[in-house]
Formats: sequence, C-alpha cells, structure tokens
Amino acid sequence: SPGLYIVATPIGNLGDITLRAVDVLRGVGVVACEDTRVTGKLLHHLGLKKRLIRYDDHAGEGDRERLLALMESEPVALVSDAGTPLISDPGYRLVRTARERGIAVTSLPGPNAAVVAMTLSGLPNDRFLFAGFLPNKAKAREEALAELAQVPATLIFYETAPRLAAALAAIDQVLPGREVAVGRELTKKFEECRSGTPSQLADHYAAHPPKGEIVLLVAPPSDEPAGDIDVDALLRAELA
Ligand code: SAM
Repeated sequence: SPGLYIVATPIGNLGDITLRAVDVLRGVGVVACEDTRVTGKLLHHLGLKKRLIRYDDHAGEGDRERLLALMESEPVALVSDAGTPLISDPGYRLVRTARERGIAVTSLPGPNAAVVAMTLSGLPNDRFLFAGFLPNKAKAREEALAELAQVPATLIFYETAPRLAAALAAIDQVLPGREVAVGRELTKKFEECRSGTPSQLADHYAAHPPKGEIVLLVAPPSDEPAGDIDVDALLRAELA
C-alpha cells in the first residue's frame, strides 16, 4: 500500500539483508537512495530493477516534494548507502513531513553499525549515547567531547580511518582514563574490534594504519564511591 518504507540495508555483509527488506524492495516501484550506483548494485544482487531517485544530503524542498507526491499514491522505499536510513544519513525531514501529512510511514529494522559495535565492544551497554560524527576541527572536537564528559553512558561515535588518530588523541586529553574500543569493517571479512586505553589504540593504529569504516566507543566515567562525590561542585556545575 502507498506510503514511506524506511528500509535498513547491509553495512558490509550482504547476507544481513532481511527477508522483509527484500519483500518490500520487491514490492515498491520507487527506491529513494543516496547514491544510485550503490543502491543499484544492491538491487542487482537481489535480482531487482527499480526506478531510483536520488535523495542525499544535498536534497532540497523540491526533491522532497517529488517523493512525497509519489508516496500519496504508491509505496516508496527509502534506503541509504549502508545500514539504517536517518542514522547519520538523510531522511529526517522526509519522515517528518510525511508524518505531518498523514502519509503512512513504516520502518524495517536491520543493520546499524553503532549497534553492532556496541554489542561487540564489551563496554557497558545498559546506557549508551550515540553521538554521530565528531566535528572535523580540533577545537570543536574537544568541545564536543567536553560536553559529553559527565554523561553516565557508553559514548558511540562514527569515525573515518584518516581521522581516527586525532579522535583518540582528543579523547585521551579531554576524557582521560577512559577505556575505548574501535570496531572496524564490521560484518565484513576483516572485521575487528579492539579495546584498550586511547594511547594503546593510538600506538596500534600508528603501526597498522587503519582502513575502512570505524565506530569508536568510549567507556562511561567510572563510578566514584559515594563519599568522594563533591556535592558542592556538582551543584555549582548545575547552577552555572
Ligand atoms: N546509517 C549507517 C548505519 O546505520 O550504521 C551509518 C551511515 S554513516 C554515513 C557511515 C559511518 O557509519 C562510517 O563512517 C562508520 O563510522 C560507520 N559504519 C558504517 N558501516 C560500518 C562498518 N561496516 N564497520 C564500521 N563502521 C561502519
């Protein structure tokens, strides 16, 4: 039936496509995607050929309206290059507007790099905070980390190989004493997950320059014994 179908796709291993995703992709006429070549390949692998409409980070009002108009009369799938759409990927405004207009929106769960890394890392998972990509510039990156310093949860960041060293150095500086973990090439042939101190991982990746896609996790601040809590300082921070 007409509407928007948010379809998660593999983050590396094509075997991770769900039965429901294949079913929905087979049933729709139109697939909105970030990169028609990337999605064309996936559909080809599934034996499907569909009308692909580009909907990427640069999509504007016009692109959105075109898709919304289609959704009123036929099912439209939204996919991203990999993983779950909207998670550090386009789609937020499309979903928001579709919902405002009463268009049916369904989300098909599937692969997500943050969740795979969280489950692999061995870090506490009772609370975790997904913080997307850290800023590119050093000062903004440090500020972003400082803002998260008190959050009592495992922090999850998306990273790229060329920026990993700078991110580890910043964590060492701004969040000293925290265990970190790196999930790399998840679900792929050379999948790895390494944990240690930021400087241990920095040393490792200096000797073995990382390739591929990376999720970086930071352990929560360690629990201080109740007697050590400086209530005055906490109150001052709250009131500041
Ligand atoms: N929507 C995707 C998801 O659900 O995971 C994330 C898209 S975001 C633009 C791309 C980032 O996700 C990469 O820079 C990397 O941090 C992470 N990522 C995606 N696939 C990955 C993989 N196979 N292994 C490790 N990280 C991955």
